[in-house]
Amino acid sequence: MRLREPYTIAYETISSTGNVFLRIETDKGITGYGCAAPDLQITGETTESVLKACEAIVKPTLKGVDPLRIAFQMSKIQKPLKTRPSARALVDIALYDILGKTAGLPVYKLLGGFRTSIKTCITIGILSVKETVQKAEEFIKQGFKSLKIKGGRDVEADIERLIKVREAVGKAIEIRFDANQGYTLEDSLHFFTATRSVKVELIEQPTPRGKPDLLGRVTQNVPIPIMADESLMNLRDAFRLARRELVDMVNIKLMKCGGISEALHINAVARAANLEVMVGCMDEAALGIAAGLHFALARPNVLYADLDGHLDLIDDPSAGTVILKNGILYPKPFPGLGFE
Ligand code: MG
Repeated sequence: MRLREPYTIAYETISSTGNVFLRIETDKGITGYGCAAPDLQITGETTESVLKACEAIVKPTLKGVDPLRIAFQMSKIQKPLKTRPSARALVDIALYDILGKTAGLPVYKLLGGFRTSIKTCITIGILSVKETVQKAEEFIKQGFKSLKIKGGRDVEADIERLIKVREAVGKAIEIRFDANQGYTLEDSLHFFTATRSVKVELIEQPTPRGKPDLLGRVTQNVPIPIMADESLMNLRDAFRLARRELVDMVNIKLMKCGGISEALHINAVARAANLEVMVGCMDEAALGIAAGLHFALARPNVLYADLDGHLDLIDDPSAGTVILKNGILYPKPFPGLGFE
């Protein structure tokens, strides 16, 4: 799928994305759908490797089995697909869709049904000051109340963009910042001090993912919440980050961790450690976004959502699987994840 507008983050520019869809038919006449958004930089996968995994592992494992035994079926693909988290998410999402459709309930209600909608932020990639402000104003006009601004290439330029955006959008709009691993401790401190007046809500992944101690030092020294994104790939990462108190918040993405089941485990670790949770996404179709949304709606401590990856996609076959109104995301009022 091509993107309506390419966007730039600290380490790449993206103009199109490849997703893989899975359809599982059952002998009860129910069909479940899953979506994988592989990303070589983050999940270490390509669409080709996910398709290969489907042929070699998923098909033979799932043929003729009980799709409602999700934990059991997932346990069989866990090992062979250990390094393919989005391929695991693909299967997990389709199985939850079947579970919901079998029960006649939307997935979020089966998982706890804590809330019925959630505010999402919308992302602004790395652009000039003028373009950033224009984009911010455009999004506010569309009804968004929360902006996530990307940076991490040039701390001075980041500071200027944030100050100018705050001036343009007023006090009521939330501004989050994602450095995508581009900062040092000094950059992080300088950024915090220079943007004090902006009241940045949180800083996502300031430092490189391979340097947990550095991330911990930023968290200790910067008074606003620091969130792990690239540093949190799986349940073990969540445990390590929590045990060593390296961050204040975590960004859970189904494509990184392998789906809804694993996201629920990570969420429990986060809750035990008093870490706030945001649900995030990759460049993924509305079906993948729906899966993230149902997870977020289900659990009380998923307080933040960054589920905007589908908004710019052209020819998304699952377009319309979630409802967006004035920056608030709602599920479709149908069983499963709301996609047929
Ligand atoms: Mg991020």
